[in-house]
Parts: sequence; C-alpha cells; structure tokens
Amino acid sequence: MESVADYKEIVDEIKASGGEAFKRCYQCGLCDAVCPWNRVIDFSMRRIVRQATFGMTDIESEDIWRCTTCGSCPQQCPRDVRQIESGVSLRRLATEYGMFPSAVKPLRAVSASLSGAGNPLGEDRARRADWAEGLGVQTFTEEMELLYFPGCYLSYDPRLKKVARATAGILQQAGIDYGILGIQENCCGESIRKTGNEDLFRRLAKENIKTFVDHGVKRILVSSPHCYHTFKNEYPEFMVHFEVVHIAQLLDELIEEGRLTLSGKFARRVAYHDPCYLGRHNGVYDEPRRVLQGVTGLEWIELSESRKTSLCCGGGGGRIWMDTVKGERFSDLRVVQAVEAGAQVLATACPYCIANFEDSRLSLEDESALEIKDITEIVHEALLETEATE
Ligand code: SF4
Ligand code: SF4
Repeated sequence: MESVADYKEIVDEIKASGGEAFKRCYQCGLCDAVCPWNRVIDFSMRRIVRQATFGMTDIESEDIWRCTTCGSCPQQCPRDVRQIESGVSLRRLATEYGMFPSAVKPLRAVSASLSGAGNPLGEDRARRADWAEGLGVQTFTEEMELLYFPGCYLSYDPRLKKVARATAGILQQAGIDYGILGIQENCCGESIRKTGNEDLFRRLAKENIKTFVDHGVKRILVSSPHCYHTFKNEYPEFMVHFEVVHIAQLLDELIEEGRLTLSGKFARRVAYHDPCYLGRHNGVYDEPRRVLQGVTGLEWIELSESRKTSLCCGGGGGRIWMDTVKGERFSDLRVVQAVEAGAQVLATACPYCIANFEDSRLSLEDESALEIKDITEIVHEALLETEATE
C-alpha cells in the first residue's frame, strides 16, 4: 500500500478536508451490508473508514472513488460517520496529490469542459438551448411564474433531449408561464463537488446564483434530482434560498389543482425506480407514484427494492463520468429486476438513471423487452393520446 505522507500528516489532512467524522466509526459493518458495490465486487466502506482513521488510506486505489453517494449506508450508520462527506474528503486529498487511477482519468476532461463551457460533456455553450428549437420556449424574464432549468444532460444528450422536450410540451399544455436561461445556464455543480473538486463547484454555483438573482428568479423547476439536491440543500451555503421543485412534484401539483388532466392512456406495465437523490436524499417518494398511478391504463409494478431501499443506478458521486467495467454495473442488475418483475417499462425521474438504464437495456437477452422512460415522457404520451382522442 502506498502512503503519500506519514501517519499524522494523513490524519491531519483528512480532518482538514472534512473527514473528521470517520473517527466515530466502531466497525459494526452495517454500511457494508447495504452497499450496492457488494453485489458486484468485494468493497468495504467500513475498511475505508478504518484505514482513514489510522492514516493508512491508499489514495492511489480506485476504492475511494467507488462510492456513488447513494445514501444507503448513512441511513444505517449508528454513529453518524457521514460516509459521503468523509469519503469526498479522501477524494479531495487524492486530487491534491494528483492521484487518479485509470477509471477516474475521464474526470480531467470533465473538469476542463465544466470550467470552459459550463457542461461536463465537452459541448459548446452556444448550443445549450438547441433542445428547445421549434417549441416556442421563451427566455426567462422576471415576471414569469417559473424558471425551467433542464440541466446539462437534458440540454445536450440526444436521448435526454426528448425528456426536456416532453417537459416543455407538458408545461405548455398546463398553461404555465415559464422560461429558460439557455446559454446563461451552467452545470449545477452537484456531481463535480462529490468528486472532491470543491473550487469548481463553488465557481459554478456562484455563477448560477448570480444569474438567478440578476434575472429575478424565485421558483426553479428541475428535471434532475442532482440539480434539485444542490439548489435546495447546498446553494443555501451561499446565503440564498430559491424555491426548487422537481418535475415529479410539479406534475403532482398540477394534476391535484386540475391544471393538467390525464385522460389519455398509457396501457403498459410500469415499474418505477426511485433515484437516490430524489428518494433517499430528499424523501420524494409519493409524488412520482401518485402521478404514474393516475395514468389511465398504466399497470403499476412496485419493485421489491424500492423507496428507501431502491438499488442505486451507479451514476451518482461523479461515477457517471468514470469507467465502470462490465459485470460491475448496478444498472445491469436493476434492468433485470424490472424484467423479472414483469415490467414492460422501467420509469424513473433522473437523467443519470436513464443514461445508465438505456446502456444496460442493451445487455438484456432481448433488449426490446424493456423500455426506459422518464415520468414526463409517460405523462406527455398520455397527454398526446388525450389530444388525439378529443
Ligand atoms: S455503519 Fe457506521 S459505525 Fe458501522 S462500520 Fe459503517 S461507518 Fe462504521
Ligand atoms: S453511500 Fe452508497 S455507494 Fe457509498 S459506500 Fe454508502 S452504500 Fe456504498
């Protein structure tokens, strides 16, 4: 095992990087019992915590980069070890020493793209609003009811642009007065923060906050639970508070208020996957269920690992940008669970989950056995069907 500094120096650095809670661990192992990594490899958060406590962290190992920040083990820990925050502190340390194992190397290009163009995908800032072409989406102005913040993947990824377009269609149908910031929108910064790059997170957050304040933004609609989490729980560190609503919550609200009526059909068997950052991290479990269960013809399937015990897709904590070899992908397990439960559609409400599930679907024996859909796509299809039958 490589050590970059002596025992005391490592312990001090871990403390200085915010990893002090490690010392509360009493090695009960409850974290390992729920960690999804243990489905695919021998991985132990308990071991990482123990090594860190003794200044024995192998900062060259991929292990400190594996945690997807899924939130399962903090729910179990009797000593509030704060595995996510403490684990991020080890990544900060590795970043400081320039130690990136090969699976983590893509982070360099991601950081450069975030710094230069405000997105992690190496895309041109000027094309950020291209997804909205032809939809009549307005630029946000102060008097509007809502700012729609689609985020990076829905702005650029060809599969996920469909989710942004479905969202715009629903908002239009419900008569919502909303706008977007287009090229003035930056990545929310949530995932890069979890890789330990605090400076870049702070820069992205401050730029977004300035744009929100300058435009008089009060209520922000997001499609990604990662944007939701950081706007709601992390941006207040900069002494600002915006009202943030995830599309699952807004749909529930619009249906409840009678502003959106789903009389069209979506006649398929649907299983819903709770994204970690919507469910475990923010407690939003009921709204997406109410929305989907209200769609005519939809046959509901509750997966055995759902709500608090939902199986992580593998994309959080910056893992969406790291290489995960075949045989180690949680999303492969999840799509099989959905098929075995009899689902024709695996629905979710997060761009990382959709990206991972679409990849994993291709590894099924029969890839046509399962469709992957965002809940907005299901609602939008039901709305289109309503229009067609009117
Ligand atoms: S659950 Fe908490 S106390 Fe128990 S081994 Fe894991 S980190 Fe330590
Ligand atoms: S947060 Fe999730 S992925 Fe990370 S160590 Fe805990 S259970 Fe494993």
